[in-house]
Amino acid sequence: MKKKIFQSILRVTIVILFISLILITGVLHNYFQKIQNQQLKEELALASLGVEEGEMQYLSGLEEHNNRITWIDSNGNIRFDNQADITKMENHSDREEFMEAIETGFGSSSRHSVTLTENTVYEAKLLSDGTVLRISMNQKSILALLLGLIQPFGIILILAVVVAYFIAEKVARQIIEPLDEVDLEHPLREESYEELAPFLKRIHYQKKQIRWQLEELNQKKLEFEQVISHMKEGLILLDAKDQIISINPAAMELFQTTLECIGNDFLSVERKQKLTQTIEKAREEGWGQTRFEKNNREYQFDVTGIRTEKGLIGSVILAFDVTEQKNAEKMRREFSANVSHELKTPLQSIIGSAELLQNNLVKNEDVPRFIGHIHTEASRLVVLIEDIIRLSELDEERELQKEELSLYQIVNDVLKSLQDKANERNIKLEITGDEGQMTGVYRLLHEVIYNLCENAIKYNVDHGSVRVCIEERQTKVGITVEDTGIGIPKEHQSRVFERFYRVDKSHSKKTGGTGLGLSIVKHAVSYQNGTVELISEEGKGTKVEIWFPK
Ligand code: ADP
Repeated sequence: MKKKIFQSILRVTIVILFISLILITGVLHNYFQKIQNQQLKEELALASLGVEEGEMQYLSGLEEHNNRITWIDSNGNIRFDNQADITKMENHSDREEFMEAIETGFGSSSRHSVTLTENTVYEAKLLSDGTVLRISMNQKSILALLLGLIQPFGIILILAVVVAYFIAEKVARQIIEPLDEVDLEHPLREESYEELAPFLKRIHYQKKQIRWQLEELNQKKLEFEQVISHMKEGLILLDAKDQIISINPAAMELFQTTLECIGNDFLSVERKQKLTQTIEKAREEGWGQTRFEKNNREYQFDVTGIRTEKGLIGSVILAFDVTEQKNAEKMRREFSANVSHELKTPLQSIIGSAELLQNNLVKNEDVPRFIGHIHTEASRLVVLIEDIIRLSELDEERELQKEELSLYQIVNDVLKSLQDKANERNIKLEITGDEGQMTGVYRLLHEVIYNLCENAIKYNVDHGSVRVCIEERQTKVGITVEDTGIGIPKEHQSRVFERFYRVDKSHSKKTGGTGLGLSIVKHAVSYQNGTVELISEEGKGTKVEIWFPK
């Protein structure tokens, strides 16, 4: 600002000085010229009188005179000159002032000297004898006057520069002081220059706008943080240089870091090559995905590069826990392999027996045994296929019809149908407890109870017992199936609910087990939001406790 003011003052000063210089030079030049010309005319009049009366006598007295006096005869020849040798002077008949004097009685002219800095002014008068008296004087030209004035004006200019500098500094201070005192927090409260009012109003308005925008931005940031902090998935935002801009709690837990990692390079949090390569890929192609194990769980990382018209501005990393999915996939693969295997074994046995029969390789008395074997294996296949169908129905999670039912009634039906099996081994079946009223899917509950009771008989000892107890509480209904059988060794207890898992394969096969019974139980119970607990001791017996919400 000071510089601007200084420049403006200086510019105005220089222009004014320059105009003054020209005007003053012109006026002075005119003024002095007029005076000198007047003097010259008066001198000429006096000299003319002198020449008319005393001729050469008068003129010789003027030899030391300042101005040049020349007496010219009517033919232009020089009769007298007080400053030059007349023998060397040329004829003056062609001089402007001479010709004018001859013609009109008076003549005047002026001629530039060689240097242009001087003019010679001539005044001539026709005397009564026909001769002409001329008087001339050297005058400084306007250029000389100008050159003469340049030096004082130069000094004035330097002075003007110094004065302009001080004035600029003072003016700038005077302007800035009230501006400095303006409270920008409340620009409209202070009274300063009225010229500043629109400017201060604009500041006030802009401040208001910035405050709103900040509030809005904070609100959005808060909402964003709220959303990402409640996300199950890990979320990380990176800038174009892969530095962390934002990280949510799930991602912090996954990478075992804190909010302090914000601003650091992502490599300081995770160095896994698979992930850094995926980020690189997302930066180049827009998207990348990878999977790897971390903290004993399987994670899938989806990385998206964020591009605007300015180019890549960062990337987003989303981490999903896909452990369940991976386990389910593994289970499905194992299940398919197991199903094929379980189906193949009885089928091969059936085909083998059938081939022997077909080729008459079986003795007549053995034929019924072979046919019986084929029947048993085929029945096993049917049971197995039925179990598989039931499981896949449960896997589909289809909505099944629910109804009001009594668990006691179902247990009663089941035990009745298993009575013959129990009788074969003298196993006592017993039912105790409440009515067990609840809302549920009859078919599933029947299946659960049947499988548990069947196992309790299958894996029981001869003369053993099975006790089913139903307990009704305020919000839940429980059913316990307890046997006095062979029990399940500790190391197998957690796995018996897996598909096709059997503690003793040969025993299970002998008793017609498929290894799917307990997995159907677990699935069917969880379908009805119930819980299953298995308590068993090898050689003593097994107790399965199930609770359903009413
Ligand atoms: P299976 O069709 O072989 O009985 P399950 O899924 O019903 O298959 O049971 C899985 C395994 O758990 C059985 O093979 C058996 O070894 C064991 N098991 C289940 N119930 C009992 C029980 N009440 N007593 C002892 N072992 C049992």
